[in-house]
Amino acid sequence: MFDYLIVGAGFAGAVCAERLAARGKSVVLCDRRPHVAGNAYDHYDDAGILVHQYGPHIFHTDGRRIFDYLSRFTAWRPYEHHVLAHVDGQRLPFPINIDTVNRLYGLSLDENSIGQFFAEHAENIGHPKTSEDAVVGKIGRDLYEKFFRNYTKKQWGLDPSELDASVAARVPARMNHDDRYFTDQFQVMPARGYTRMFENMLDHPNIWLVLGVDGETLRRDVRHRQMIYTGPIDDFFEHRFGPLPYRSLEFRFETHDMSKFQPGAVVNYPNEQAYTRCTEFKYLTGQRHPKTTVVYEYPQAEGDPYYPVPRPRNAELYRKYKALADATPNVHFVGRLATYRYYNMDQVVAQALGLVAQLEGIDAQAA
Ligand code: FAD
Ligand code: UDP
Repeated sequence: MFDYLIVGAGFAGAVCAERLAARGKSVVLCDRRPHVAGNAYDHYDDAGILVHQYGPHIFHTDGRRIFDYLSRFTAWRPYEHHVLAHVDGQRLPFPINIDTVNRLYGLSLDENSIGQFFAEHAENIGHPKTSEDAVVGKIGRDLYEKFFRNYTKKQWGLDPSELDASVAARVPARMNHDDRYFTDQFQVMPARGYTRMFENMLDHPNIWLVLGVDGETLRRDVRHRQMIYTGPIDDFFEHRFGPLPYRSLEFRFETHDMSKFQPGAVVNYPNEQAYTRCTEFKYLTGQRHPKTTVVYEYPQAEGDPYYPVPRPRNAELYRKYKALADATPNVHFVGRLATYRYYNMDQVVAQALGLVAQLEGIDAQAA
């Protein structure tokens, strides 16, 4: 009899497995994929280049506790992420900053005048409800049309006016020359990759890892006291209230016989192409190699569930599943898919650590 069956070996499942095993619990951890690390999985491709199979993953956090916890399983490589957006024939710094505006419109604004520029162009929205409101209310309609509208339509299959403000609000507008994508205190990449970090995390005698097997099979066949589930919550309840929408992606990888393909880690294509962005992995990983591999991301309605879609009607449907989850004894739901939240890796780690602390509290009360 195992203390825990954990379904899904991404950040949510692996962090729970590691913490519970370290506290003496026996854990069976499974994933239907043939590998650990969930969507953060990386591996060496045929050319010998370290690539992220499910799209570029850049680690950033303001949480020292999260950073310290993961540091037990990996050394880090300092890495600050930079993105260019291909707009009106130029590759411009993104998020939008003073240089983006100056190069786009041929201006010479500085830190004293950029605020005025945004204020003159911003529309009076009040409290932003949608992603359109969030951008237009901050920097105005022209920048919205050029950088946000079409990218968002491609990425989500929805107009920004149909998505929660929180989606576009992930990207700030800068009143300075800072061209980093993130401003978090800790911006690093696992020195030997995410998969290696997960392998270290899960290397524990109390963890029995089963790959390439669906959780439902183990749920039937393996005796366990409690279950932690990190897959899509609507799957768990056999879509009783109808399917929750997720956005998917198709990844097209290309290896080029040159050491460098594009001028930065990521180039976004808001307007022209069917893909949203092109990522060149060597910038992220620091790998030296005579060849280089890039990936193009093509958003899809069908396929592996990657993104919960933040909009009011989906939140309402999720609440129904959440009520069922709350009423299901001995099963705990955690992670991006099981709690239907557009979470970054560090947020999922925090959520998983929080769940384990809660479970310990329950154990302590029972003792
Ligand atoms: P997942 O990583 O999705 O893991 C869930 C696992 O459960 C999967 O491996 C799945 O196979 C398995 N599973 C599901 N159902 C079952 C079942 N029934 N039986 C067995 N196994 C099952 N975050 C960042 O912080 N920085 C980034 O740069 C970043 N970039 C991203 C880019 C893309 C394209 C995507 C899609 C996400 C990105 N993220 C990024 C978010 C990050 O991937 C997630 O926060 C994180 O992976 C969530 O971990 P998780 O364990 O909740 O889910
Ligand atoms: N976005 C956009 N144009 C861009 C980049 C992002 O309109 O060039 C919008 C889009 O809706 C996207 C959201 O901002 O989904 C959040 O972007 P982020 O880079 O945080 O998304 P991620 O790739 O991390 O999910």
